[in-house]
Amino acid sequence: MDLFRVALPNPEQEITKAEIVSIGTELLLGQTLNTDARDLARELSELGINCYYQSVVGDNPERMEEVIRLSLKRSDLVITTGGLGPTEDDITMGVCAKIAGSELVYHAESERRIKEFFAIRGLVPSDKSKKQVMLPSDAYIMPNDAGTAPGAVFNFEYNGQTRYLAVLPGPPMEMNLMFQRELKPWLKRYSRHHLHHQYIRTVGIGESQLVAKITDIIHNQGLVSIAPYASAGEVMLRLSVMAPHDMPIDEVNALIQPVAEQIKERIDEYIYSEDNKPMAEVVLSLLTKEKAMVGFAESCTAGLAAAELAKIPGASRVLSGGVITYCNELKHSLLGVSREILAREGAVSESCAIAMAVGARSLLKTDYAVSITGIAGPEGGSEVKPVGTVWIGISHRNGSFARSFLFAGDRNHIRKVSVLNALDLLRRCLLSRE
Ligand code: AMP
Ligand code: MG
Repeated sequence: MDLFRVALPNPEQEITKAEIVSIGTELLLGQTLNTDARDLARELSELGINCYYQSVVGDNPERMEEVIRLSLKRSDLVITTGGLGPTEDDITMGVCAKIAGSELVYHAESERRIKEFFAIRGLVPSDKSKKQVMLPSDAYIMPNDAGTAPGAVFNFEYNGQTRYLAVLPGPPMEMNLMFQRELKPWLKRYSRHHLHHQYIRTVGIGESQLVAKITDIIHNQGLVSIAPYASAGEVMLRLSVMAPHDMPIDEVNALIQPVAEQIKERIDEYIYSEDNKPMAEVVLSLLTKEKAMVGFAESCTAGLAAAELAKIPGASRVLSGGVITYCNELKHSLLGVSREILAREGAVSESCAIAMAVGARSLLKTDYAVSITGIAGPEGGSEVKPVGTVWIGISHRNGSFARSFLFAGDRNHIRKVSVLNALDLLRRCLLSRE
């Protein structure tokens, strides 16, 4: 008889409640950000599975067992991450096997896979890897396609209830791949409802102002729930609907669209994306449509704006380049900003922003040039130009202009929000010329 299960179990009932237990002392100490819990929580919510609790516990057998047992009392499915490595402190598999009443036994297929994983890299596994091939009997073993540690799904009665305990590795790439390949298709079959979202992204308006414009729509929300989220310089509205898993996508959209339209009528001037595209991607498609290139002259953002655009595949079609002109001397010698402007109005001024954009357009021989010059702080502010004052300039074939902004927050927040608004100004400029 095979000691291991050859397939994931067939749940008789819908899996409605899941819980995440993140394992690792480094998480408790704040040395590693718990991205695994974030990724899993997002996936579970989209699968329509409620996740009422998340826990973090260190690499300690008693406390780990206590947390997992507590989770098993209240949820159909418990997913653990971490603690599957080859070292002494990686004890998750043993603790879970003990709880499920199974034993760790030799798993030949995993040994073969681990040997192969090392062989392609011209290496041989050390003795430590032996630990990773001792896996729980009577569980379904999940291969790790991005690393060495296999995962497992246990299925057992716990306090008279049917429970599933899924054990995933900690490294985010391995965890995500195993979830996508093994658990997600399985869970999809056993959750009868899925959550669908539409994201409306806005810039240039604060969260409370935006909410004030649509308060009545939020209060009267029916099947479609509306949730605002504020992040650096932007507010996103998430429209969600929980639909039966077999509802055709057109019918799902027919539920969301009327609400989206109602919202759009109120806040249209602030919306830059209705399908969750980041600003840089929106700008890239507008530039592509116009077959135009853009270049940057950056002072306080020192290359961040160009880098943001370069993150998007296809950037080479629209990004000509950029210059970082942090000191005034370079603003003059590279971009031709006059010494008079720099002396009389200063580097953070309308004239300087325009002159930087004009200079960059001619230096970089590009259709559009965007300049950013501001005071990111914490020092350097004054009464007339407080920290957060940023001028953004644009130069194109038919003219040049600049706009001033006053951003709140610390240095790097101001730099990030400057980039978002510089790209937004370019977006508006491209749209007005369409
Ligand atoms: P482990 O499987 O516990 O040996 O974890 C290996 C590595 O994966 C850790 O050193 C972390 O860098 C990373 N890791 C573990 N758990 C998490 C988590 N919850 N979120 C993000 N990274 C993690
Ligand atoms: Mg660990």
